[in-house]
Order: sequence, then structure tokens, then C-alpha cells
Amino acid sequence: MTVQSHPIQRHVAVVGGGIMGAMTAHSLLESGARVTLYDPLPLTNSVNSSNDTGRSFRVHYGEDLEMMNMALESRAMWRKMQADAGLDPEGSPWFHPCGKLLLADAGDIYAQACGNAMRGHGLLARDFSAEQATERYGFQANSAVLDPYGGVLSPDRILLHLAASLTARGLIRRGRAEAVDGRWVQDDGGRKSYDAVVVTAGVWAKQLLAPNTPPIDTTRQQLVYFDAASALGRDISHLPVFSHMESGFYGIPTRHDGFLKIANHHPGPAGHPDGDDRAVDLAFINAARKFLARYHPALAGAQVKRTHVCFYTGTRDRDFILERTESGVILGTGFSGHGFKFAPLIGRTLAELALDRPPSISIERFASSRPSLYGSPAVLAV
Ligand SMILES: Cc1cc2nc3c(=O)[nH]c(=O)nc-3n(C[C@H](O)[C@H](O)[C@H](O)COP(=O)(O)OP(=O)(O)OC[C@H]3O[C@@H](n4cnc5c(N)ncnc54)[C@H](O)[C@@H]3O)c2cc1C
Repeated sequence: MTVQSHPIQRHVAVVGGGIMGAMTAHSLLESGARVTLYDPLPLTNSVNSSNDTGRSFRVHYGEDLEMMNMALESRAMWRKMQADAGLDPEGSPWFHPCGKLLLADAGDIYAQACGNAMRGHGLLARDFSAEQATERYGFQANSAVLDPYGGVLSPDRILLHLAASLTARGLIRRGRAEAVDGRWVQDDGGRKSYDAVVVTAGVWAKQLLAPNTPPIDTTRQQLVYFDAASALGRDISHLPVFSHMESGFYGIPTRHDGFLKIANHHPGPAGHPDGDDRAVDLAFINAARKFLARYHPALAGAQVKRTHVCFYTGTRDRDFILERTESGVILGTGFSGHGFKFAPLIGRTLAELALDRPPSISIERFASSRPSLYGSPAVLAV
């Protein structure tokens, strides 16, 4: 008589249910694992760093080919997830491929360098003269470079979908984790054992894993949402995501509500989501308006409809931390204000580590032992 062998179903704990935890849970469930997600908050909330109406997607990453490849793969994964969810690709509900425009002043070499690196990598990038940028989009810049693979991701819609689909696939939910190790999680119900433990607790990973975490700066970032559609007197689907390297300002148009989010990529003052209030100061609103007056005058008078404060989990070199720690915990944090776009790829990678499979991307550069994590803060590119 032959003995039928059944694969043993692994039970993995994921601690932290922002986009990275949700996408890790998604990948694990797809691989047939049992998953318990710890988070005191529902997937859609206004406290963590993942929820918003729009996040920028771009493929240009200066001359960093590895990140460009990761962005391209993530782009394909977002689009596939959107199609798998049965959503209308023409309606672009999760990913609106409106492009990402780099605005350049005279003598600004960053935009051109990004365009050249993309072309050198066999990708498309389009140069705009000052006149073309004005005629096509209304921008007033010396020149501009379009990353045509860029666009707007809709975190609120993505997380709403994930909340329903993960539940339907049997996700087990628990609240706040008090302590973790490579094989267990402790909460107010006691200590539970797992085959693997993934920590995707954003800025809170530091507290949960202390004292064994590298330096991560938590900075307070202000966001202002302008009523762009009313100011322009038309829908804003023609507008790309845009950024200006030197000032750090960037804009994300969300066509479903007609708003344009203006924020600044330069890390703000130190803060923490548990303590700081979410009020945006008038000086920042005025600076955002001044930026619009200079680079897109037709939007300078747009009404402010909403403001928000969100927190970057910033590493010194602005790269992520993805690794199995000495205690055996699988850690994903330090997404430094640019991680959302990679969430499907990061979720898949953390799931692979949890299932003891070789990760399908190289994670060496994301190890917490790298020296650049302990040096001076690098400039954040947009
Ligand atoms: C203002 C701003 C703008 C950004 N813009 C972009 C952009 O345009 N493009 C882009 O690609 N990326 C962008 N990012 C980055 C991206 O959004 C974040 O890197 C990403 O959302 C971080 O996700 P996360 O899951 O790691 O963390 P979070 O979303 O912060 O989730 C962490 C979760 O852990 C939970 N948690 C904490 N402690 C515990 C505990 N003890 N037990 C259980 N659960 C716990 C929290 O409740 C929380 O839900 C931006 C970030 C910010 C803040």
C-alpha cells in the first residue's frame, strides 16, 4: 500500500497590515499557506503610511537599473492583479497610466539623466521643450522629460479590494502584537507559534524589534489636495504625475475626484504617527501654492479641499530593508517614501522568504548590514 503524502500547510504570521503586509498575505494565500495577520487597524485607515487617494508610480530611478527593473516588474504585477480582480482595464481603477513628468530648470541635469538612463536601458522616455510642456500640459518649465510607464496608483481602492479578497480567502485576523520572534507572536491572548513570522509594521517595526534595528528616521510629511478640475474647468486625466527635483515638490492628479495632491519629497521634521497631530500648517500650503504659481500658473488659484499628514519610514540611503533577521523574523521596512509602487514585488519576496524559497529578486542590497545604512542621509530622488 502506498502512503499518500500531503504537503504540510505552513502557517505564517504577518505583523502589520499596511500595503506591504497585505501584499505579503496575498502572496502567501496564493501559495496555499495559512495566514494570520496582526494589526489593530482595518486595512483601510488613515493612520498608517499606506492609505491615500493616489501614490506615484515611476520607472525612472536615475541610473539604478536594478530599481528600474523592479519597477517594471511591479507595474506588470499591478496590472495583472487589476485584471485578475475582474476590473475594467480601460477604467484604470487601480493604476492610471498617465505618465510621470520630470520638470527641469535651466542647468538641471537630473531629468535628462533619468531620460538617458531609460533610453540606455531600451525603454522609452520623451523630451519636452518649454513650449511643448506648456502646450501639452500647461507647465512652465525650461524643459521636461516624460517617463511614459509612470502613473497613479489608487491605494484606497487597492486596499479596499484586498480587505475583501483576503477575508474571502481565509485570512485570520488578530490585533496588536506585543512581541515577536522568528517562530512566535505574542498578543493579549498569549503567545502563538508559527512556521514563520513576517514583520511589515512600517515605522512601528523599530519598536517591535528594538534594540536590533538599524537607524530609521520617521519624518512628518504634509499633503495638500487642490481642486484642480474646478481650477482648470475640465477633468484632469490629461495631467501626468510630476516632480521637480531641486525643490522636492511633486504633484499627483487623481482623476476620480479631480484633485491634485501636492507634497514635498524632502524628509520633513521628525515625528511619529502615534503622537503627532495631522494638521498641515499654512506655511506649507502657501509654499505648495507658490510652487504651482511658478510651474503651473493655471492651478495657482485652486481651492484646498483636504490636507493630511503621513510619515516616511526613512533609511539613511533611502533603500529598503528586506531580510531574515538574526532572530529569524522576516523583516520588510524602511520604504522611505517610495515603496508603494513595489508592493506586489515586495509582498512576493517576503512570502518567498517565509516559505523558505529562494527570493526571485536579489535582496543583498536590502540587508540591514550594509554600511550605507549607517552613514549620512542621502538625497531622496523623485
Ligand atoms: C506622504 C507619503 C507619500 C508617499 N508617496 C509615495 C509614492 O508616491 N509612491 C510610492 O511608491 N510610495 C510612496 N510612499 C511610500 C509608501 O506609501 C510606504 O512606503 C508604504 O505605504 C509603507 O507601507 P508599510 O506596509 O510598510 O507600512 P504602513 O502602511 O505604515 O503599515 C504598517 C502597519 O503596521 C501596523 N502595526 C504597527 N505596530 C503593530 C503591532 N505591534 N502589531 C500589529 N500591527 C502593527 C500599523 O497599524 C500599520 O497598519 C509614500 C509614503 C508617505 C508617507
